[in-house]
Amino acid sequence: ATSTPCSFLEIIAAVAWEVDKPLSIEEVEVAPPKAHEVRVKIVATGICGTDDHVLKGSIPNIDYPIIPGHEGAGIVESIGEGVTCVKPGDKVIPLCLPQCGECSFCLNPDTNCCLKTHLHESQNLMPDKTSRFTCKGKAIHHFLWISTFSEYTVMPDSAIARIDDDAPLDKVCLFGCGFSTGYGAAINTAKVKPGSTCAIFGLGGVGLSVVVGCKSAGASRIIGIDINKDKFTKARELGATECINPQDFKKPIQEVLLEMTGHGVDYSFEVVGHTDTMVAALVSCHMGSGTCVLVGTPPLGSQLSFDPLLLFTGRTWKGCLIGGWKTKDSIPKLVSGYMEKKFNPDVLITHTLPFDKINEGFELLQSGKR
Ligand code: NAD
Ligand code: ZN
Ligand code: ZN
Repeated sequence: ATSTPCSFLEIIAAVAWEVDKPLSIEEVEVAPPKAHEVRVKIVATGICGTDDHVLKGSIPNIDYPIIPGHEGAGIVESIGEGVTCVKPGDKVIPLCLPQCGECSFCLNPDTNCCLKTHLHESQNLMPDKTSRFTCKGKAIHHFLWISTFSEYTVMPDSAIARIDDDAPLDKVCLFGCGFSTGYGAAINTAKVKPGSTCAIFGLGGVGLSVVVGCKSAGASRIIGIDINKDKFTKARELGATECINPQDFKKPIQEVLLEMTGHGVDYSFEVVGHTDTMVAALVSCHMGSGTCVLVGTPPLGSQLSFDPLLLFTGRTWKGCLIGGWKTKDSIPKLVSGYMEKKFNPDVLITHTLPFDKINEGFELLQSGKR
């Protein structure tokens, strides 16, 4: 692999110019990768709830105009100086959570929250604080360093993982966020035990992936909770043993769950991103030994109010980013597991649209028809 001298590319990308506006499909110029950067042709991208939060302005530290998207798969087009982990032609998944491999968090086996993530330092620009995207004479910001809503995109080499040459990119893009997040929340963060009872609040793409994780960990009872009953068919197909809609009950859903299970579930997961469901999920788990995992993104500036006695009695409350996986090490292994048919998240794909219909994709996401 030689670092090929490469030129600017004129491509199409979806730009969010400001908060609360649909994406606009624009001609964008993409600069060549600098040292330790990689330019990738994106072949497929998913739309995650977090991209919707970007359009609505509900996550911190986002600078507009920006090219969102963080659940993609593609092929390396060119590499900058010093890049050794991938070469042109490799199939890759961009990592919305990098793994630099050098920081104290990367060296700590108990966390995947690399110190180069957006939470520690904004990733709206490349590490050298410049952008590789220009549109109408303006620099456009990057999202989580990977901006997958673009035909070509540039990312640092800490935010890319090479995957199996045979992997179908239109399917495995889900491993970039949604599937890995939900599956890992059950397997790594909760460490669901065989024979246990689980409750999952929110059955979008991520919540359904939690269902898959609970089932593969051997949970015997998996209760899906959503205010949209259309989600129940897929949840059952993936392993939910019961599905309930909070709107069908007069009493709060946590009381319904306590009645259904005696003393609460062993593991509860919040995969909505609302403070009321976060507390409801905590209350729903067993008062002495339950574990509640927060997966949904908290609303901007929100605070939680809850009775500390809930924890005093022995409950564990935790959260995770991208299912706790050390991404560069683990995502290629998850893709290999998919190739070996260990799990099949294909059913999570409800619609496949051409890139220029991306706003229709967001409308489907917002209407719950996915
Ligand atoms: P989604 O919008 O597809 O799914 C959310 C689901 O919650 C929908 O089915 C909706 O009907 C349901 N819901 C809404 N209100 C509810 C309520 N009161 N009770 C029960 N269900 C309710 O979103 P998604 O793509 O599945 O993502 C889910 C959340 O996970 C988002 O907040 C997203 O930002 C977050 N997320 C976090 C990580 C992470 O690393 N922690 C990664 C990816 C996504
Ligand atoms: Zn996501
Ligand atoms: Zn790191």
